[in-house]
Amino acid sequence: MSEKVKNVLRLLEELAPKEYAMSWDNVGLQVGDREDTVSRILVCLDVTEAVIDEAVKSNADFIVSHHPVIFKPIKSLLKDNPQGRMIHKAIKHDISIYCGHTNIDIAPGGLNDYIARRLGLKDTGILDVTYSEKLYKLVVFIPEAHQERVAEALASEGAGHIGNYSSCSFRTTGIGAFMPLDGSNPYIGTKGKLEKVQEVRLETIVSEKKLKAAINKMIAVHPYEEVAYDIYPLTLEGNSIGIGRVGNIEKSMSLSALIDSVKSELKLEKLKTVGELERVINRVCIVNGSGAEYIQAAVRNKCDCLITGDVKYHEAQMALELGLCIIDAGHFETENIFIELMANYLKDKINAEDLSIEVIESKINVNPFKVI
Ligand SMILES: [Zn+2]
Repeated sequence: MSEKVKNVLRLLEELAPKEYAMSWDNVGLQVGDREDTVSRILVCLDVTEAVIDEAVKSNADFIVSHHPVIFKPIKSLLKDNPQGRMIHKAIKHDISIYCGHTNIDIAPGGLNDYIARRLGLKDTGILDVTYSEKLYKLVVFIPEAHQERVAEALASEGAGHIGNYSSCSFRTTGIGAFMPLDGSNPYIGTKGKLEKVQEVRLETIVSEKKLKAAINKMIAVHPYEEVAYDIYPLTLEGNSIGIGRVGNIEKSMSLSALIDSVKSELKLEKLKTVGELERVINRVCIVNGSGAEYIQAAVRNKCDCLITGDVKYHEAQMALELGLCIIDAGHFETENIFIELMANYLKDKINAEDLSIEVIESKINVNPFKVI
């Protein structure tokens, strides 16, 4: 059976919804059609013309890239510039392109977490919170005999989740009153007659993301033709997500030893650093790609060292003055592992759902820099 682009988008959204991305970013399907078929996915860091050629040669019809293909507004799409040529070629060969950038960095289990795990950080948390889930109180009125069925339906959609507890609700009993009118088909009562029923008021908490599905399921199992329910926005906040990870290293070590560990994990021969090599490091933060703007956040989080890429001269100077060590392992070097993370994620999901899609990893080196 042939699979469609929209099936792959669903798998990608499960890992990192588009809404997770930073406001300045541009993520999601950028070239192609949700209804196109997909048989082979090529995962890469950047889409260049050479990567499109690689996709064509290997019969890939879907590209998943980390960096957006379209970032700034495009004023023309001509073949005499690299971006225009590349997009033309993708369209000509019916190749769809999805870009998962800061949404993948931020997502739990995404690139920030992946690199933090690779570097052996423990007790990890978010370096800079970008979004906290909105919570709602959902109240529904149920005839007594049906309360468990409705409660179970709500819980199955994730309503009533508080910390390490699920299926949380509070119930009070009372009298529900209603009069069925012409055109109604009441489960209890008769038209034109005021009915009074012993009902349960069940209240539970639900996140914005799960609210719609919870309501749909609740209505589907509720016996009444018209389900009476209320939704109250809460000022409490739910789970937070954010960019960068902060954590402690397994055992205190010198900056020099930490550099060796970063080099070995990311397979690097050289990197840049700021700070005394003998400095003892306990707590670090990691922002893959370009993370110099998080120097202050690193200090606020009491980190000894920020591991990132793309640090400029004056930013390095500021870190030095603030007493923060920096390991600048490079933008490409801290993000190239996107390919294995994404390829492994997609392979696992595709296997679990028994989809007939193959996933391959790009072999094109897109790093414009050479260290000589
Ligand atoms: Zn990047």
